[in-house]
Amino acid sequence: MERSPDYDVIVAGAGPAGIAVAARLVQKGRGQRILVLDRYHFPRDKPCGGALTGHMRPVMKTLDLAIRVDHVPCPDAVVRCGSFERRVQMGQSVDVIRREDFDADLVAQAREAGVTVLEGEGLVSYERDEEGVRVKTSAKRELRAKVLVGADGAASRVRKQILNNAKETPHRLFVAELNVPAPRGLETSMVYDFGLMSRGLCGYVWLFPAPDNRLNVGLMHYPNRKKSLSGRELTALLAEGVRPYGVELPAKGVRGWPVWGYHPDAKISEPRVVTVGDAAGIDGLTGEGIAVAMEQAVVAGDCIEEALESGNVAFATYRKKIRRATVGRELALDRWLAKLLYGSGRWRDWLALVLLDEKVLEMYARRVDGTEVLADQKLRLYGALCRHSLVRGRRLRKLAEHMS
Ligand SMILES: Cc1cc2nc3c(=O)[nH]c(=O)nc-3n(C[C@H](O)[C@H](O)[C@H](O)COP(=O)(O)OP(=O)(O)OC[C@H]3O[C@@H](n4cnc5c(N)ncnc54)[C@H](O)[C@@H]3O)c2cc1C
Repeated sequence: MERSPDYDVIVAGAGPAGIAVAARLVQKGRGQRILVLDRYHFPRDKPCGGALTGHMRPVMKTLDLAIRVDHVPCPDAVVRCGSFERRVQMGQSVDVIRREDFDADLVAQAREAGVTVLEGEGLVSYERDEEGVRVKTSAKRELRAKVLVGADGAASRVRKQILNNAKETPHRLFVAELNVPAPRGLETSMVYDFGLMSRGLCGYVWLFPAPDNRLNVGLMHYPNRKKSLSGRELTALLAEGVRPYGVELPAKGVRGWPVWGYHPDAKISEPRVVTVGDAAGIDGLTGEGIAVAMEQAVVAGDCIEEALESGNVAFATYRKKIRRATVGRELALDRWLAKLLYGSGRWRDWLALVLLDEKVLEMYARRVDGTEVLADQKLRLYGALCRHSLVRGRRLRKLAEHMS
């Protein structure tokens, strides 16, 4: 005889995405009917820059979650490239947290709201049938649910199963948390440095001031088959990128991590199964994914509730719903911008536009601080392109001077 499902929803992964889906389902009155499981025990390690963009506070408020851990509010960002430097004010501060603390507190908040979170037990595989999803766990148990959420991060097993193990080229993010304070004058500023693009980096180096007087440094490298760089080369580039700030990268402690960029046409669900967060794709331009995960989770939670209510668990429109939500529109635009800036082979041209057109940096700052939706600013972006075509040569010469 068929066993009835143990849960309405099993969420694999208790990172920001998984906890946010759980929080949304709590709001729908399903707190007692969901199980969140994570392969690790919290506080668990998570390589990350820890910058919570301006979208974070509103989405957390929507989900009845709060930032309760130590954080460094950054009211501005410094954008650099060679001798070029510009300080951009944020409409609302970007908060830098330490992921170990932040994620553990999110788990605590979910528990306080009545959610069962199981630590140290991961999803190994799943099978779907008419009745639901059977989840096999690392504790050799089989759990049943009506719906499974793959919130299991960049190395998501759920994503792999949905995509049938299709081969993909990841973005690569390298990070080190240093036990030194932020450089003088940058104690509450986020630094984005594009100078290493002239040395083959398809991305940028960051320096973020972290709680407890620490400094978080890292880089993002866009997947570019023509400029394939090894982990060793990327680590060396990171060391080179932070040196001008008086920061020495230790020989050990730099960690690399592959992540998948959001693609609006990629499959992110199948009947009874949806993916959220890194499992569904991060922001291709910045590598940002924490607020993204939570914003996707709101859409996912609503779709799951609708599916459970109606009994139609096909999730046939989930991809479109994510794509049409503000988060999906911003991700799709950033994917396109990333392709131009990092992947087109014309990075000088695009970088000259981004850095030397004051309005473009301002517009992007409003997107990061969450006060404007960049995808709604297409006319202004188009205006910037037109302006650029008129002064392109002059800007390229200026950029070359800055980078020499
Ligand atoms: C170096 C680096 C720097 C970054 N910097 C930033 C930044 O500054 N700002 C920003 O917004 N984003 C940043 N990101 C992206 C951000 O870290 C992710 O987008 C974010 O963590 C996504 O949350 P998530 O819940 O989807 O995944 P995760 O946070 O990775 O959580 C996934 C969870 O699933 C668990 N899990 C994995 N497999 C299983 C399984 N089989 N069964 C059960 N549980 C499982 C994991 O243990 C983990 O707890 C950075 C990423 C990297 C790699």
